[in-house]
Amino acid sequence: MRVAIIGAGFSGMLTAYLLEKKGIEVTVYEKHEHIGGHCRTLVSKDNTIELGTVFSFSEHIKELLLELDVTYTERFTYRNFLDEDFNKVEHLSRKDVGTLTGELNKLEQVLNKYPMSLDDVNYGPIHEDLMVPLNDFLKSHQLHIISQLLAPQLSSFGFGSIYELQAYYAFNIFNMDTIHSLIRGDRLLFVNKGLSEVITKLSQNISDIRYSIEVKNIESIGDKVKVETEFSSEFFDRVLITTKLPKDVIKDELYNQLMNKIDTNPYITCAYEVENKNIVTTYFKANLGEKNKIQFFHTFRQNHKTTLVAYAYGSVNKELVNSITTDIEKSGIHVNHLITAKQWYIFPHLKEKNLTPNFYRDILDRQKVSNICLIGSLVSKPSISNLYASVRQFVAQTF
Ligand SMILES: Cc1cc2nc3c(=O)[nH]c(=O)nc-3n(C[C@H](O)[C@H](O)[C@H](O)COP(=O)(O)OP(=O)(O)OC[C@H]3O[C@@H](n4cnc5c(N)ncnc54)[C@H](O)[C@@H]3O)c2cc1C
Repeated sequence: MRVAIIGAGFSGMLTAYLLEKKGIEVTVYEKHEHIGGHCRTLVSKDNTIELGTVFSFSEHIKELLLELDVTYTERFTYRNFLDEDFNKVEHLSRKDVGTLTGELNKLEQVLNKYPMSLDDVNYGPIHEDLMVPLNDFLKSHQLHIISQLLAPQLSSFGFGSIYELQAYYAFNIFNMDTIHSLIRGDRLLFVNKGLSEVITKLSQNISDIRYSIEVKNIESIGDKVKVETEFSSEFFDRVLITTKLPKDVIKDELYNQLMNKIDTNPYITCAYEVENKNIVTTYFKANLGEKNKIQFFHTFRQNHKTTLVAYAYGSVNKELVNSITTDIEKSGIHVNHLITAKQWYIFPHLKEKNLTPNFYRDILDRQKVSNICLIGSLVSKPSISNLYASVRQFVAQTF
C-alpha cells in the first residue's frame, strides 16, 4: 500500500511515523523547504527559542517523547497581568475567585447537556446552542467570571476573541479538565531542545519526504488517488491531507466546499533579545482578543541571555512590530534587538456564518468511504497533545 501525506507539520510527520512503524510505505509532501509547520525552534549558540508551539498539556504525549528519546521538563508558569497604563493588576479579584467555584459547578452542569458535541478527540456534530460566540453563551448562563478566566487564554493561544470564537470551539479546546488545570496552574511540558527536535526525530524514521514541493491537484481515479505537483504526478492508494489547501486542489465537491470555508487567524510572533533578567509571562489585559496589539509575551533565559517572545494578531509589518516593541519597553523591559518577526496562520476553523451542525460529521462520514481523508488540525482540536491523540486514533482505526 502507498500512502501520500500532504503537509509535514506535527500531524503529517506523526502520521507518517506511525504508518512506517506499521510497515506502510509513505510519501510526505511539504511545500516549504523545511518541515515542522507550526512547530519551529530557532537555535543559536546561546539560545533555543520556540517561535511556534511552546508547550504541551498532555500526559499522553510523554509516551511519544520517551519513544523518540526526547528530553522534556515540566514546570509552572507564573503570570502577570498589565492594564492599559502598564500597571500590574490582578487577573481575578479575591471576590471573583470566591464566585468562581460556584460558576465552575454550574458550567459543568451546563456542558453535560452537550456530550455528543464535546466529548471526542475530533470535532463532531455541533449543537446549535454552541454555535454562538463564547461571550454570548457565558452571558446567557450568567458565567461572568469564567469568561474573564478564559478570555486571556483563548486570545493568547491564537484562538481569537471571546466575542467572535464560537462556544463550540472554545469548549472543545478548553474542556472542564483543561479549565481546572488552568485554574490550578498545573505544570506544563516543555521539550528541552525545542519542538523541532520532535519533528527531526520523527523524520529520521520516514523514508520519503519531498521538500519545497507544493501539491497542486488531488484526484481519485478508480481505486487510486493521483497527486500532482509542478514537477510530477504519482498514484497512491490513499491520500491524507493535514492542511488547508487552495480552492480546487482537491477534485471532490464536498471536500472542496469544506476547504473553501476553513479559515485561519493571521498571527505573528516577535522574538527579541532583551536585558538579561528574570521576566514573568505577561498578559496585556486591555488588548486581549484585539487585532494588531500585543497579547502577551513569555521569555526563555539560558546561558546569561534572555529571549522574549511576543504574540499579536495581524500581519507582519513595520508599524505592528514597532508597536509591540514599544509596549514591551513600556512594561519596563529594555529591548536589545529584534531577532525575528514571523507570520503564522493559526487555528483552522469556521467563521460563525459557515459553521453548521453537520460540518465536521460530513467530513468524518466521507472519509469512511473515500481514499482521500482530512486529518490533524483540520478535524481536531489543534493543541499538539490532542493532535497526537487524534492522529493515533485515525491510524489505528483506518490501517
Ligand atoms: C505561534 C504559535 C504558538 C503555538 N503554541 C502552541 C502551544 O504552546 N501548544 C500547543 O499544543 N499548540 C500550540 N500551537 C498550535 C500547534 O502548533 C498547531 O496546531 C500544530 O502544530 C498544527 O500542526 P499540523 O501538522 O496539524 O499543521 P501545520 O503545522 O499547519 O502543518 C501543515 C503543513 O502543511 C504544509 N503545506 C501547506 N500547504 C501545502 C501544500 N499545498 N502542499 C504541501 N504541503 C503543504 C505547510 O507548509 C505545513 O508545514 C501554536 C501555534 C502557533 C502558530
